[in-house]
Amino acid sequence: MRERLWAFVHEECIPAEESVEAFLSAAGHPGEATRFAVVPPVIEALKERARDLGLWNVWADEHMCHLAAGRATDDAGPCGVSLRRDIEAQLPAEPLTVSEYALLAEIMGRSELAALACNCSAPDTGNMELLSRFATPGQARRWLLPLLQGRMRSAFLMTEPDVASSDARNIACAIAVSDDGARATVSGRKWWATGACHPQCGLFLVLGVSDAGARPTRRHSIALVPASAPGVRDVTPLLVFGYDDAPAGHASVTLDALSGIKVFVPRVALAVMDRAIQVHGGAGVEGRGLLARAYAGMRCLRIADGPDDVHERTLAGLEARRVLGAAGAREAVTGRRPAKL
Ligand SMILES: Cc1cc2nc3c(=O)[nH]c(=O)nc-3n(C[C@H](O)[C@H](O)[C@H](O)COP(=O)(O)OP(=O)(O)OC[C@H]3O[C@@H](n4cnc5c(N)ncnc54)[C@H](O)[C@@H]3O)c2cc1C
Repeated sequence: MRERLWAFVHEECIPAEESVEAFLSAAGHPGEATRFAVVPPVIEALKERARDLGLWNVWADEHMCHLAAGRATDDAGPCGVSLRRDIEAQLPAEPLTVSEYALLAEIMGRSELAALACNCSAPDTGNMELLSRFATPGQARRWLLPLLQGRMRSAFLMTEPDVASSDARNIACAIAVSDDGARATVSGRKWWATGACHPQCGLFLVLGVSDAGARPTRRHSIALVPASAPGVRDVTPLLVFGYDDAPAGHASVTLDALSGIKVFVPRVALAVMDRAIQVHGGAGVEGRGLLARAYAGMRCLRIADGPDDVHERTLAGLEARRVLGAAGAREAVTGRRPAKL
């Protein structure tokens, strides 16, 4: 495998660097949004080559492969498609140990395109690892699988402009978690989020304070925030010594009291698919077609990822608590005045 990777890096990745640079230069000046709008086609071609050469996702060791596949436990997707099978198809058949992978990572380091081509680049590997450990089956289908497939990129949002972020205990971004743990609202400012500008970036893992009363090392949680959520504002590329590292970039991001995502996004997606089905007539609902399958999957999500109604109730409770306080919110929901102490 080392020889295969060595040849891939030297014969395909390093020679491709010039064309990536030319593509980005033609797209705009460093920091301009146009440089983050399209992935240079040669990168997608290299990803295909890495797959063919058996170099895809080689970062995942045996334990990680086991955890990732385990996210799909007892869960089969719509139309009988097994999430577990889909995840396993992306993982190496013979996983390497961490020490073995280190030797490959050293070779990948010879080209700035190699780790990307092999789906072994930061911050996605760390984020895939977190999802492999903790994602629900619904989150695994929505986020982990597309990341493993290399169809989506992600960002990890820890650092904040207003606190010394070397010490994660200082992180101040607020995550308000609903009582059942199924929903969160997130607000705060982040910066230096690598990958957040990438045109394929679909997910932000946001570190924030979810339990301000707990001791400093137990206060924080990570919220999964869709990059396209309405409350995600001002995703602005930062320059590092004048370089923008396009198309991934490093961004400052404002998170503006994000909420209602679990209800809002599937509904919008369904409305779009419904229109597409209408345009296609009978072909749109034909069972083997892409649209019918996508529609079925998205419709299921409105139940499988927690029913809309539950999310709406939770959201109403959170909003009532924000405006009326805990006692007022209880009164609004139950119609009962709080008992006098
Ligand atoms: C190119 C790039 C990419 C990045 N990507 C990401 C990313 O994807 N996600 C993300 O969340 N962040 C990212 N970061 C941010 C990076 O993790 C932070 O800049 C780093 O953790 C330092 O935090 P800070 O900038 O708040 O500096 P501060 O915490 O304010 O520290 C400033 C300086 O104070 C000193 N200092 C602080 N604490 C101590 C200590 N305990 N002991 C001794 N000295 C100390 C050090 O000299 C330090 O350099 C990225 C940064 C860069 C430059």
